[in-house]
Amino acid sequence: MSKVALITGGSRGIGKAVAIKFAKEGYDIVINYRSESDNLKELKNELSKYNVKVMCISGDVTAFDRWGEIAKEVIEKFGSIDVLVNNAGITKDTLLLRMSEKDFSDVIDINLKGTFNVTKQVIPYMTKQRRGRIVNISSIIGIIGNAGQANYAASKAGIIAFTKSCAKEFASRNILINAVAPGFIKTDMTAVLSDAIRENINNQIPLKREGTVEEVANLVYFLGAEENTYITGQVINVDGGMVC
Ligand code: NAP
Repeated sequence: MSKVALITGGSRGIGKAVAIKFAKEGYDIVINYRSESDNLKELKNELSKYNVKVMCISGDVTAFDRWGEIAKEVIEKFGSIDVLVNNAGITKDTLLLRMSEKDFSDVIDINLKGTFNVTKQVIPYMTKQRRGRIVNISSIIGIIGNAGQANYAASKAGIIAFTKSCAKEFASRNILINAVAPGFIKTDMTAVLSDAIRENINNQIPLKREGTVEEVANLVYFLGAEENTYITGQVINVDGGMVC
């Protein structure tokens, strides 16, 4: 039976590249999206090349109960969830003095609580299967912090602590759980930055360029695939050497 990978926020950016990578490797794909878009249609077309089953399922990662329904539906239709990639995330950057309570709680609710919500609803099925891989998308900002990103940094640091704790809890069930910490990756999330900021960041990267979504997806696949049998509880940076 083919393996199934579920990717949150999978219709664009890093999530989309992860979905394509797992499809290329023969996994059936469940793409979670928040809103219907042309991106989703394009991705469905792209995935149809790979001769795998594809399910697109709407749901906001902040809606805890909805994720109970989603997990059940995937199991009913595809039979298992072998890989979960908690990718959905947002930024609401501003200096702390200007940051509203909502700016802080929105980012924590989606990035950190969303990772909890989806994991909590999916992991009972992995426990029953006695196998699973979870890859949580953190960020190097969760390791080093950044002015203007106190909310985002806290959410991504929380994801790292959550990852390590869950890895310890579920190792005995053959569920391996790791975090990936991307650096500066070319997506819609970073497209809002000015050329001056972009150049400044690129100068701080030993490899002197932004990363691509495919470079992140390759690492996510490495950790999420069944060939990974001995790496759990780790945070691996994909950042061109920015943090080392
Ligand atoms: P992106 O292009 O902005 O895509 C974000 C994805 O998350 C979209 O598919 C979006 O869905 C989804 N999403 C946002 N809020 C959601 C919610 N409440 N429920 C369900 N889905 C939701 O961002 P990206 O750059 O690919 O980032 C993906 C992940 O990598 C994020 O966790 C981000 O923090 C992390 N990351 C990115 C970078 C970078 O440089 N790009 C660096 C470090 C870490 P909609 O299309 O419906 O909005």
